[in-house]
Parts: sequence; structure tokens; C-alpha cells
Amino acid sequence: MALISINPAIGEEIQSYPKHSTEEVQFILSQTVDEQSRWQNTSIDFRQSCLEQMAGVIRDRSKEYGIIMSEEMGKPLSQSIAEAEKCAWLCEYYRDMAPEFLSDKSVEIAGQKSLISIQPIGLVLGVMPWNFPFWQVFRFAIPTITAGNGAILKHASNVQGCAKAIEECFKESGFPENIFRNLVIPGREVDEVIKTPAIAAVTLTGSTPAGKSVAKTAGSVLKKTVLELGGSDPYVVLDDADMDVALDACISGRLLNAGQSCIAAKRLIVTENIHDEFLTKLEQKLSEKIMGDPMDDVDMGPMVSIGAREEVHDQVLRSIDEGAELRLGGEIPEDKGAYYPLTLLANVAPGITAFDEEIFGPVFCVIKAKDEEDALTLANRTEFGLGAAVFTEDKMKGEHIAKTQLQAGLCFVNDFVKSDPRLPFGGIKESGYGRELSSFGMMEFVNLKTVVVKDS
Ligand code: NAP
Repeated sequence: MALISINPAIGEEIQSYPKHSTEEVQFILSQTVDEQSRWQNTSIDFRQSCLEQMAGVIRDRSKEYGIIMSEEMGKPLSQSIAEAEKCAWLCEYYRDMAPEFLSDKSVEIAGQKSLISIQPIGLVLGVMPWNFPFWQVFRFAIPTITAGNGAILKHASNVQGCAKAIEECFKESGFPENIFRNLVIPGREVDEVIKTPAIAAVTLTGSTPAGKSVAKTAGSVLKKTVLELGGSDPYVVLDDADMDVALDACISGRLLNAGQSCIAAKRLIVTENIHDEFLTKLEQKLSEKIMGDPMDDVDMGPMVSIGAREEVHDQVLRSIDEGAELRLGGEIPEDKGAYYPLTLLANVAPGITAFDEEIFGPVFCVIKAKDEEDALTLANRTEFGLGAAVFTEDKMKGEHIAKTQLQAGLCFVNDFVKSDPRLPFGGIKESGYGRELSSFGMMEFVNLKTVVVKDS
């Protein structure tokens, strides 16, 4: 059996990757365990120098990496290159911050020396998705490895070219050969890997069902998990919003990656007084966007696969049946490839698929709210809690809403939700638990060891 990469723009196979056998998986794990036992004793200086080299390698190769990403999952090349460069930034961030994050933290207690020593925990398994095929892997692996752990990647089956390129990037950057390894296995073989004693903890970025499955297995063997799962982010546009700022943020927040982002602007909730103007302007702006070959200068490429497109199209058709109004798109083009047009649905409300389910594709859903209170109630009426945004010229009010009213892990005022190495990233409710990035993300997979030395 093999895992196959298919170019979604043309529907042709790029390459097939023979699956690792059970014995090969065990051998890779044993090599990484050995490597980690040496790596945890390396100095922070040495780890910093590896991160430094890695940032350089990524920047030098950003176009090459970008082409691999765009060919395997269809995002425009400019977005893929930007993704690679963001990974370089991440390396530089942890290079700069590692000494502070990993230093002992002392606690003043009379009669004793008390400190918290930050120690690695061993091998962390990262089960990763295809939608940001470099970024998701780096944001799990870089803090994990910098803290002295080893990292095992189980990447999505359709982006094994990216997985291979990342594995090579680690070696080229001076990291020990086996500190980061990729397993070429399908999702259904993950459970066995989790149960292997070599694995200390697991992080999964992907769908909620996959997260629950991994958490169940990890729980049965008492291994820690971090879960970054789906979302249905509300973007609340209030009466006093700057309309252009709100429109641009909503469009950027949904268009990126053809809408296949966990933190995409999936539900645009607009107060009644400005709803019609917002909808008309949104339709106008969306009709100017260009979909096409991801290697060209386009706003949007194809979706990741024909299967993913069918799922989105089915959700759009069901939404229309249930009462949503189709304003743009909604038809599968005849050309080859997994293209799906920018689609605009108005009249979306609770009880309609586009409101109740996560749509993982380029579908803009506009929801009319009576007033601010109604808008916030609608925003929170979801099983998910990943990101959220609110648009208002009253920044104090926006901050209050972001802090206390919106049920999500990341709340932005007058901007679209995005990840940043310096800020914790993660959700609540069905969007998962735990955090990635910043010092908080790095502390998920360490042993916060309490050390007490009694005064003599
Ligand atoms: P997915 O099907 O859950 O796949 C993600 C990863 O999990 C892949 O490596 C997949 O392997 C593996 N997997 C699937 N089922 C599994 C199982 N039962 N046990 C163990 N591993 C399993 O997700 P997707 O459809 O590719 O991605 C879309 C979803 O991810 C959306 O819901 C999106 O919102 C979410 N997402 C969340 C974040 C975040 O940070 N919160 C970021 C990106 C995406 P195979 O490829 O071999 O099946």
C-alpha cells in the first residue's frame, strides 16, 4: 500500500509513497528515542544555532517548498511561499526566546531553595493536516524539539511530499538526523503508534472526530494530548463598524487557502441596520476575485480534492434547500481539477447547514442579526470555539466583547483572526484544548519539575 499525492489543479498523481510497515515504524521510533536521549543533553546554544540555520535554509528554499505545497494541496504559490517564510520567523522567534522560556523559574520560600526546572518529556507524536502543510508541522515541532524532545510526524496522507521536504530541512539545518522523523502511515494506524511506549504525548490538528479518536486512545494509555480542531468562527459586524475594514477582513479571513482554514471567517453576522449595504458590497468585491491555476497570480486555487469539493457543494445545496439565498457561485465548474467557485449565501440562520456545520471551503455565509445582543447570541450559538472577530469603531467596547462575550480561544477586534508565534493559539469547546505557540505552547510538552533544596 502507498500514500498518494494528487495535484488538485489537474487531478493527476504527483507521486506515491510506499507505506511504512509496522517493523519500520518501530525501528524509526527506536532511532528517535535514542536520538532524543542525547539531544536532551545538548546546550540551548547548540539548539539555537540549529534554529538559526533552519531559518536560513527555509528562506533560501521558500519558493521550492512553496511549489511542493501548492502542487500537493492547491493553494496559490504566493500563499505557500508566505507560509514557508512564516516557518522561518517561527524558528527565529524560538531561537530568541528559548533561553528565557526554558530557564529555571525560582520561587521565594523561606528555608529552602525552590525552583521549577523545565525538562523534556521524550517523543511527541504530531498528527497533522494538509491545509497548512508546513506551518502546522513547524508550529508543533519547533517548540517541542527546542525544549529537548524528539518529534514524530504523522502527516496527512495527501501531503507526503511536504513531509519529506520538512524531514530533509531538519537534517540540512544541522539538527541530529533522527530528532524529527516522518511516519508514512494512514490515519487508521495512528492508534497503534500512540500506544507504543516510545511515545510520551500526542498533538493533533485536524477534524473534531479525529481529535476525539486520538484523545480516546491517548487517554486509555494516560498520555497527554493537545487538540487543535475545527471551527466555525463568527465575524460580528456592528452598526458602528468601519464598513471597508470589516469587508476586507471578512474577505481575507475567508478567502485564504480557498476557505480551508480552521480559523476562516465562516459566519458573517451583521446587524440589521447595515446588513443590506454590507451584503451588496461583499457581493461586488467577491465577484472581482480570480480563481485559477495556483502557480499563477490568483486569489484562489482549487480545493484540496474532488471529495472535499463534493462535501462543500452538498452543504451549499442543503443550505439553499433549507432557505439560504444563493448570491454567487454554487456551481461546480466543468474544467478539470477540484475547483469550486467563491460562493455567497445570504439569509443564513440557525437550522441551516451553513450556520450549524463547519463549511471547509470558499463559502461566505451572511447572517442578519437584529442588534448587538442578538449578534453576540448568534456568534456563540455553535459547538465550536476557536476564533472570533468583532468590528466596531468603539475599541473599548470591542475589547470588552472580545474579552468577555465571545466564546473562543482567539478574539480579534477590527481584524481577521490569524496565528502569530508570539501569541498562544488554540480553542475551547469542540475546537479542542491546549495551546500552541508562545511560551504557553512550549510548556504543553515539558515536565515542569519542582525542585526543592532545603537550607542546611
Ligand atoms: P482530518 O481528516 O482530521 O485529518 C487530520 C490528520 O488526522 C491527518 O493526518 C489524518 O490522516 C489524521 N486522521 C484522520 N482521522 C484520524 C483518526 N481517526 N485517528 C488518527 N488520525 C486521524 O482533518 P482534515 O479534514 O484533513 O482537516 C480539516 C479539519 O481540520 C477541519 O475541521 C479544520 O477546521 C481542522 N483544522 C484545525 C486547525 C486548528 O489549528 N485548530 C488547523 C487546521 C485544520 P490521513 O490524512 O491519513 O487521514
